Amino acid sequence: MTDSRPQRKLSGILKWIARMFLHFLAISVLTILTQVGGISYILFLLVKRFYNNKKLSIWHRIGWNTLVFMLIFLFVNIVIVPPLAKQISGRIPLPYFNTKHSNIKPANIFTCLLNRHYVKPGMKDLLKDMEKEMNQGEKQKLQWLYLDANFPFIDGFPLLPHRSHDDGRKLDIAFFYKKKNGEQYKRRVSFLGYGVCEGPSGKEVNYPKICRDKGYWQYNILEEITSQKSIKKYPFDKERNKKILQKLATDKRVRRIFIEPHLKTRLGLGGYSKIRFHGCPAVRHDDHIHIEI
Ligand SMILES: [Zn+2]
Repeated sequence: MTDSRPQRKLSGILKWIARMFLHFLAISVLTILTQVGGISYILFLLVKRFYNNKKLSIWHRIGWNTLVFMLIFLFVNIVIVPPLAKQISGRIPLPYFNTKHSNIKPANIFTCLLNRHYVKPGMKDLLKDMEKEMNQGEKQKLQWLYLDANFPFIDGFPLLPHRSHDDGRKLDIAFFYKKKNGEQYKRRVSFLGYGVCEGPSGKEVNYPKICRDKGYWQYNILEEITSQKSIKKYPFDKERNKKILQKLATDKRVRRIFIEPHLKTRLGLGGYSKIRFHGCPAVRHDDHIHIEI
């Protein structure tokens, strides 16, 4: 039995609505994750009209579409966005890789691919100055791993799941960790770079517990989903972390720094008023340093 014309028309409309919903979903997710990914997706939909691959099998079609989308996405992110961001919002990207003169790179390359590595030039200068100062007296150049920074455009556009990284003036960097011989452990301690925590011990003030008891379930979430094995293998580097925090806290350009209160006490940084507690609605900060200028 064949469908009647009204039935075929209805099924066509339903298919169109489903397709539009999926496009809308893709644009929303890409915008939330990467800010400009939704625009790349719209460009992809426009480009897709110019190549007809309907004769190919479904898997070949998916392969082609994914490839074309990825090429557009990378082209937009690497070629179009950096000069536009500099022009429009005064934000510049942090480096993708180490260079001859500087060992600053993301803990995870996805930070850059998702456009989460934009800062005001002052933040990049600060990081480079800190690198130079911290390298003095070191046998080998230190490796700096940065985590989330900001999106390229629009003050107030949220970089989820952060509460504040929305104006180019915020940056998270990884703590320093060391090997048994005292040398720096130069690799990330977890896939995202977050979540491996130097938790409170004994009588130290315990905000992870205080916040959990107050009902802030999200406070410990990254620690709960991340393996803590690497911190036993590559311990928290007390000396280097104290030194960088002191340098940051006494630099005029820095407005605030967030770390867990127990680390502030443990490292003897009680006298530095710029080093503060971020509050239970955030997530714990004994796995990274949050810097604001
Ligand atoms: Zn942060």
